[in-house]
Amino acid sequence: MIEFEGVTKRYPDGTVAVEDLSLKVETGRITVFVGPSGCGKTTALRMINRMIQPTSGRILIDGDDVTSRPDADLRRGIGYVIQGAGLFPHRTVLDNVATVPVLQGVSRREARASARELLERVGLSANLGDRYPSQLSGGQQQRVGVARALAADPPVLLMDEPFSAVDPVVRDDLQQELLRLQGDLGKTIVLVTHDIDEAIRLGDKVAVFAQGARLAQYAAPADLLAV
Ligand code: ADP
Ligand code: ADP
Repeated sequence: MIEFEGVTKRYPDGTVAVEDLSLKVETGRITVFVGPSGCGKTTALRMINRMIQPTSGRILIDGDDVTSRPDADLRRGIGYVIQGAGLFPHRTVLDNVATVPVLQGVSRREARASARELLERVGLSANLGDRYPSQLSGGQQQRVGVARALAADPPVLLMDEPFSAVDPVVRDDLQQELLRLQGDLGKTIVLVTHDIDEAIRLGDKVAVFAQGARLAQYAAPADLLAV
């Protein structure tokens, strides 16, 4: 479980992006942060793996206060997927997925073998492994991004607008893939989107952020009041 306890983030210029946020993200479920642009979703997400440091309040993961954990140590357990996939442009698809495990001490041979399995799991055929990211479609790149995040086998996956850079047909397909992956692997997923339909389709729990960094609702999709 990931717990925000009275978390506030004030940027150096005075912008309060998140104010006194308290919520619990359940283990093994998909929690969606949804709301208009600029309401603090990305800031909240990035505080989970300390890409951004809270100004005040605490974040606990499985009861462990990560506000005091070394960043590198923490990130090892938390995968991160962003819009546009953020792949290494000068590495092949296979190496994009295999690089992090190799850095963590897995043998190159082993890392490449599991990279091939992961690519298949996210619905990419093995013969795309030798291509470079620029030779893939947006949807394919996004799949590689998910495979890369999964390569370190993190219990927690943070996803920031992972479907917004792809066309609607591919998006539906990727969303189905994510639900299937979630069912198979049981990861704890926190997903950020501005699309309420996507939030309702994918979320076990949906946190609706309002402008001004307020948490307006936090409920299962069926229990949400009209938004
Ligand atoms: P969202 O993900 O919902 O679009 P963000 O978390 O990106 O929201 O941003 C929340 C607010 O904080 C916005 O007003 C944004 O302009 C501001 N913000 C984000 N990053 C920074 C930063 N590095 N410095 C100052 N303000 C920022
Ligand atoms: P996103 O795709 O998450 O909405 P943005 O385009 O809002 O990304 O932000 C891109 C980068 O710019 C982030 O690192 C964010 O922290 C920073 N940023 C966003 N808003 C501001 C702001 N008002 N002032 C300074 N930096 C900002």
